[in-house]
Amino acid sequence: MTIHRINIHLASPRGFCAGVDRAILMVEEALKKFGSPIYVRHEIVHNKYVVENLKKKGAIFIDELDEITDFSRPVIFSAHGVPKSVPKNAENLNLKFFDATCPLVSKIHREVENFERLNLPIILIGHKDHPEVIGTMGQIKSPIYLIEKISDLDLLKIPKDKKIAYVTQTTLSVDDTKSIIQAIKKKFYNVIKPRKNDICYATTNRQEAVKRIAPKCDIFYVIGAKNSSNSLRLLEVAKQYGAKKSILLENIENYDQKILKNINNLGITASASAPEILVQKFIKILKLKNDILLHEEDSKKENIVFKIPHQIKSKLK
Ligand code: SF4
Repeated sequence: MTIHRINIHLASPRGFCAGVDRAILMVEEALKKFGSPIYVRHEIVHNKYVVENLKKKGAIFIDELDEITDFSRPVIFSAHGVPKSVPKNAENLNLKFFDATCPLVSKIHREVENFERLNLPIILIGHKDHPEVIGTMGQIKSPIYLIEKISDLDLLKIPKDKKIAYVTQTTLSVDDTKSIIQAIKKKFYNVIKPRKNDICYATTNRQEAVKRIAPKCDIFYVIGAKNSSNSLRLLEVAKQYGAKKSILLENIENYDQKILKNINNLGITASASAPEILVQKFIKILKLKNDILLHEEDSKKENIVFKIPHQIKSKLK
């Protein structure tokens, strides 16, 4: 077999964001402090590798609180955020619970509460059925109008001259969301925007990094998960910005060596919920069968850190 040279262009930044780091650390600290098992409502972050690792340490993942059988054990809510009914329910069940909602998602929760107080109809730009969207819609009693694409605006029965507000999911495509916001502003005369951009820094930075290298890539691999909005947006961005093909890698062992036969330039990134160890393992696997030359731009390091609640911190190292 002839080995040919493949240039790997590593996107930077990539992988874990501050919200994901915090959520995983909360489960790990809870396991140290309270022992196992610890219940976790929903995948703490959308990544099988992370979830399986935490299972091995003693986390039990559940979809709803009514699956809990031992009410003396603590429960942690995932990074995506939960509707208000969930902590309320946990209180009624006398559960010890901790909320690993990313602070940048909580910011959006406070925004919709504020817009409700101002009596404004609220549009949420996001993806139906995503846990973050369910969590945000469940913060207030008033209806929130979910818009996934520009044409959904036609279905809104709100008068054009009514003052409205909008918020967005944190993990959307920066470009697509811009177009939807423009369409909202065209349809309504008086639009109140969130105080700060709702698409988070990690989503924005990871998409920008992919945009910079996609034009030179024959194939772009996104290490992530198909239920991760973050991962799916990176796939789209890679394609939109010039990669001939973009492929989601849920399991790094499952890549197809045959399609690399005539490839000279390969892009790799990892979604905000995919750990760096998977990127490094994947490169190692590629090196076994290919002559690899790595390229990684020296991008600005992200230095955002979110603290975990002191009640969950263990003294153990
Ligand atoms: S992707 Fe953004 S909003 Fe989601 S957990 Fe990470 S930092 Fe928070």
